[in-house]
Amino acid sequence: MPGDCRGADQQRSDGAHRRLSFLSRHRAAPSFLCMACRQGCCFDSEEIWSNKPTIERYGPIFQAMAPRQDRDAVAGSRRGERRRMDKLIIEVRANEYANRNRNRNVPWLPREIAGDAAECREAGASIIHFHGRSAAGAPDNRFETCRDTILAIRESSPILVHPTLGYVTVTASFEERFANVRRLAEQDATRPDIVPMDMGSVNVDLYDSQRAALRTPGAVYVNPTDMLIELAQGIRQGGMKPSLVAWNVSFVRQIQAFSSMSLLDDPLFISLVLTEKILIAGHPGTAQGLDAYLMFLPQDGSVQWSVTHIGGRFDTLLDKIILAGGHVQIGLGDYPYAEDGCPTNAQLVERVAARAKALGREVASPDDARRMLRLPPR
Ligand SMILES: [Zn+2]
Repeated sequence: MPGDCRGADQQRSDGAHRRLSFLSRHRAAPSFLCMACRQGCCFDSEEIWSNKPTIERYGPIFQAMAPRQDRDAVAGSRRGERRRMDKLIIEVRANEYANRNRNRNVPWLPREIAGDAAECREAGASIIHFHGRSAAGAPDNRFETCRDTILAIRESSPILVHPTLGYVTVTASFEERFANVRRLAEQDATRPDIVPMDMGSVNVDLYDSQRAALRTPGAVYVNPTDMLIELAQGIRQGGMKPSLVAWNVSFVRQIQAFSSMSLLDDPLFISLVLTEKILIAGHPGTAQGLDAYLMFLPQDGSVQWSVTHIGGRFDTLLDKIILAGGHVQIGLGDYPYAEDGCPTNAQLVERVAARAKALGREVASPDDARRMLRLPPR
């Protein structure tokens, strides 16, 4: 896909109105938060509520050493030491609810996501996370859309598949939230490899720091513990791996409690959320924000941790994550990178892979990622 944004506004003008109509129905009681994105504040919602597209996503950070037997790459530490370290798992967060007003390369339809997945795999990604989207960019959480997207991805790439649970979250029952994944898991061809679990509830209001004003008071991402227990059991029974999402340290404690109750299998695959700009629900997208997570991660080799940065760039954080043994989740779903000339997802992945190699850390293939996460081979 071309790397420029010319014509993007014109292209999306019709779709934007439809999306606005769609989302405005949920304004009184936001119910479109994604279990994987854990945000109702992606591009479209922000645009609708404020008319000021900003965008961005979150970013997490973690730190915990992976199982020793899986450490098959060698990387130099910041102090020049040499120590064994897992290969780097690069996960592409393809689209979330991102519109195309700042970067037209956001994939929406199944064939677009599948094409993106193949390019990202070639660039070094081993996992793709995606949301179903319509031709106009609206959320499309139908089972058929998710099924068709997974089948299209697997036709052209061995990349691990990590779909969303959908935007039906706030008031939906567990069965409603899990319905798509349960059906997908019935067939080998469509079974997701990874399924998101946000390990607690969190306020996800949009905050304009320049005006010192809230844009969305009352937006809560609700994930009751009893629902999470059912989700953990359903994911395990389906032969899939949960991506355990932490928005703050209390989520890490919940993960540890679930692990102690034998509701989760090692290695824990934890996604640390950092947020910038209008979303203040996660830790800040700074070294300190990451360190605050890392201080509370288990150090017993039971964790693989990855970082997402919603609404911000990785930049210097990238080196820190790579050298600390973490993994990276990056994509146009989180940030448009318009100031970089509107790159594609594959170009973002390529940058991360190049940086890892420059720092002496190998990049994981899909097979490597399966082995590191103890997922069965396909
Ligand atoms: Zn998502």
